[in-house]
Amino acid sequence: MKTKLLGKTPDELVAVASGCGLKPFVGRQLAEWLYVKRAADWSRMGNISNAAKTRLQEEYELGTSAPVGSALSSDGTAKYLFDVGEGRCVESVVIPDEDRKTLCVSSQAGCKMGCRFCMTGRQGWHGNLDAADILNQFISIPEASELTNAVFMGMGEPLDNYEAVDRAIRILTAENGFGWSPKRITLSTIGVVPVLKRFLDEHRCHLAVSLHNPFPEERLDMMPVQKAWPLEEVINLIRQYDFSGQRRVSFEYTMFAGWNDDKRHADALIRLLGGLECRVNLIRFHKIPDFPYECAPAVRMEEFKNRLNNHGVICTIRASRGEDILAACGMLAGQR
Ligand code: SF4
Repeated sequence: MKTKLLGKTPDELVAVASGCGLKPFVGRQLAEWLYVKRAADWSRMGNISNAAKTRLQEEYELGTSAPVGSALSSDGTAKYLFDVGEGRCVESVVIPDEDRKTLCVSSQAGCKMGCRFCMTGRQGWHGNLDAADILNQFISIPEASELTNAVFMGMGEPLDNYEAVDRAIRILTAENGFGWSPKRITLSTIGVVPVLKRFLDEHRCHLAVSLHNPFPEERLDMMPVQKAWPLEEVINLIRQYDFSGQRRVSFEYTMFAGWNDDKRHADALIRLLGGLECRVNLIRFHKIPDFPYECAPAVRMEEFKNRLNNHGVICTIRASRGEDILAACGMLAGQR
């Protein structure tokens, strides 16, 4: 099996070229084609000689692969399906919004975390993506050259596959990689505490935490992670970092009627997050099969939002995107 070039850092690509007996500049050209020009096939790499390509192809493949399916929502959101081998597929979503195009990227095939309200969690874990699989979602879509932002909020828990996610973020933010500012990237997690600490120490990207319920025993009922990494520990860790400047932290709060949408929850959330520079995003719950809860009524969400805002916790209701193509939060299942 050949080694993938995609997912290697620009410095590693230079080493690859040297290892193949080619000049180091061929490695720099590879990095530019893959990460700056987002070229998904060899034929576009016009300034690399055929002899150099042939030599590289003896040991390496690009590691790019086109989506095997796509769907377009009436609101302009696009969903792409990628085959990541061994019968596994993952999905990515492109969300256009005014002058932004945000890619919601997957990091695992399925997920181990088992959140009861999530279609990805229901299917269980079928393996980690490597950095090439992650970056391919940026490169092999029609919008590749138009992407402005990325959220690690697709299938999987990114901090449960940190080596690959860390590598992908390093390439995205490297000057001779994609050259993106970390401010363009948000990582969303349910709070795998020790890995979260590593991420906060090593990267300047924004953070989003899936909170959903401020009461430990109630949260545990829907999110098994609460047992291993209680929310309190997650918040205590976050309080040790500075989110008053460039880096931001937000808390995702999906609203279920009768589970987490009343005044008691709003007040507990205000106490939990008091004094922290953050934002709470209320998310409409999108109904999934065989699950007893419905989305909280719009008026209830509005009251919840107002209560938080009136007590100094910035809160917004996030617009739902791509629901008609099963691309909204919690709906990704990676099925053909
Ligand atoms: Fe995994 Fe996130 Fe779904 Fe929980 S919500 S099961 S962490 S993908």
